[in-house]
Amino acid sequence: MAQRQRLIVGNWKMHKTISEARDFVAHLAGLLPKSPHVEIVLAPPFTALSAVADAIKSLPIGLSAQDVHWEDHGAFTGEVSPLMIKDLGCRYVIVGHSERRRHFGETDAMVNKKVAAVLRHGLRPILCVGETGEQRANGQTERVLSGQLTDALAGVGKEQAADVVVAYEPVWAIGSGQPATAEQARDAHRHIRARATALWGQDAGARLPVLYGGSVTPDNIGAFLALREVDGALVGGACLDPTQFVKILAVAHTNP
Ligand code: PEP
Repeated sequence: MAQRQRLIVGNWKMHKTISEARDFVAHLAGLLPKSPHVEIVLAPPFTALSAVADAIKSLPIGLSAQDVHWEDHGAFTGEVSPLMIKDLGCRYVIVGHSERRRHFGETDAMVNKKVAAVLRHGLRPILCVGETGEQRANGQTERVLSGQLTDALAGVGKEQAADVVVAYEPVWAIGSGQPATAEQARDAHRHIRARATALWGQDAGARLPVLYGGSVTPDNIGAFLALREVDGALVGGACLDPTQFVKILAVAHTNP
């Protein structure tokens, strides 16, 4: 069987100073499995993007920002624009992470503006969607995912679809040590792909990379990647230690 292409993204959140970031990449460089089938992306905090861009220059690792503003420039104190992100060497930007939605009041309308801005600059949004524990308990998972996707992708045409990545991140699974079951992930991923197909048609829907995120570890990543519905993972806590992260990459490498 031909090996599928995987995308593994490490979201450092608000962790690592510049020197810690450099140490991480130096450590990782010595352990990286060589695999053309696994695309590796690091998402350091804004402050470490430049140092990491420099450190990964000769490595098969891509760079992502964790957030972005939708304007190119202006009076938006504290914000960072897509132009700036691109200038730093980023190819990806995480957009609509549930921590941004929950702690910083990010709405679907804001997420939509960010997705549009990221695509306009030729960058790839990693659009995070996912239900809360309460929404799942109330049987609203599919409705929530549909609403988030419809709103965030409003105005994104078929011709831009190839640059979009979606991460299914059930809010209750993030940082909780309680990942989704393989069945829950499979059903949610199928639903996401069905929505993408409804939006963009069969080909674009089939090609959309859909990542799973939420308490991924070296021990459970294999079960997610074994699903044909899962194209990779967005990893938080377990990506902070290079040894753990490499174990996750190694599983992705060996998983057909
Ligand atoms: C995340 O930050 O997107 C995430 C999935 O975190 P964790 O792996 O720690 O649950």
